Amino acid sequence: MQQLRDEGVEVRCGVDVGVDVSVEELRSEFDAVVLATGSREPRDLPVPGRDLEGVHFAMEYLYGRNRWVADGSYEAPITAAGKNVVVIGGGDTGADCVANADREGAKQIVQLEVLPEPPARRPDDRTPWPLWPQKFRLSYAMEEARALGTGEQDYLVSTTSFGGAGGRVSVLNAARANPENPFGPPVEGSDFEIKADLVLLAMGFLHPEQALLDQLDVERDKRGNVKASTYETSVDGVFAAGDARRGQSLIVWAINEGRQCARMVERYLGTLEPRELIHSGNVEPADTGPAGPPQGRASYGLSVE
Ligand SMILES: Cc1cc2nc3c(=O)[nH]c(=O)nc-3n(C[C@H](O)[C@H](O)[C@H](O)COP(=O)(O)OP(=O)(O)OC[C@H]3O[C@@H](n4cnc5c(N)ncnc54)[C@H](O)[C@@H]3O)c2cc1C
Repeated sequence: MQQLRDEGVEVRCGVDVGVDVSVEELRSEFDAVVLATGSREPRDLPVPGRDLEGVHFAMEYLYGRNRWVADGSYEAPITAAGKNVVVIGGGDTGADCVANADREGAKQIVQLEVLPEPPARRPDDRTPWPLWPQKFRLSYAMEEARALGTGEQDYLVSTTSFGGAGGRVSVLNAARANPENPFGPPVEGSDFEIKADLVLLAMGFLHPEQALLDQLDVERDKRGNVKASTYETSVDGVFAAGDARRGQSLIVWAINEGRQCARMVERYLGTLEPRELIHSGNVEPADTGPAGPPQGRASYGLSVE
């Protein structure tokens, strides 16, 4: 963050664009807008009992936990301490839920995945080199939970409903998913139940939140991501990068997209009438003149003599 600030970036926290600042205000104040809002709309599980207390989207839990880790005085609204926790979803988000629940002192953690368990070795017929091998990998979180004897994971599990008393969840009802069609009807007569005081839904993310995109009226692709094949959206001066453009992905992609998008924005700004020279951060008038960059300026938070 310091590096960005030194370079002249002003960071305004706690501003929900589209709510606290209107799209019109934003567009009149800035020549270019980059949508880097991520892909945060979670996939839901609309089975009976979904509305019971104790059934949450993973991020409702993880936002609170991260704040607690960053600042121990923050009281997280959802806690796994002493609870039977079920995490639905076997990806990175699910792993983070397992790790946090474990470190909080959950009684037991069960991580469920609807797909079959991947093979122990690279299946050459499906993912030959140089493709990323689709093989079983024990997550850091499950490794930790197994070492403590608190965690287990199960595959081909289809959640059919949640049950409970007094409006609170206490049990997850499930059945074996069909390996040929895991998202279809589960195997008949294979029903079982798991104790659950806290259920965390970590089944992936659909697309970016749509409200701001609707206000800007940018075109979307068929998955609901911002359509911007060259980072430019369908609206002049509005760009998109990262998960908002490609869907929930990886940090390395977000970094790469941010850099490529910045180049496109720079090119776009070069086509506009210059307003005035910007004096901010470590950008000095001499940077653009024959004298070259000034000596002794702050760079990346370090003082350069
Ligand atoms: C739980 C979890 C675990 C993950 N684990 C990994 C991992 O191990 N390795 C890996 O490579 N990737 C992982 N990822 C994916 C990775 O975090 C993302 O691919 C990456 O952060 C995308 O970066 P981004 O800048 O596009 O969006 P984000 O990092 O999602 O940033 C979007 C930002 O925009 C803000 N925002 C949204 N709407 C508005 C608005 N209207 N006004 C103002 N601000 C707004 C959000 O608050 C957020 O700060 C994980 C993701 C999750 C959710």
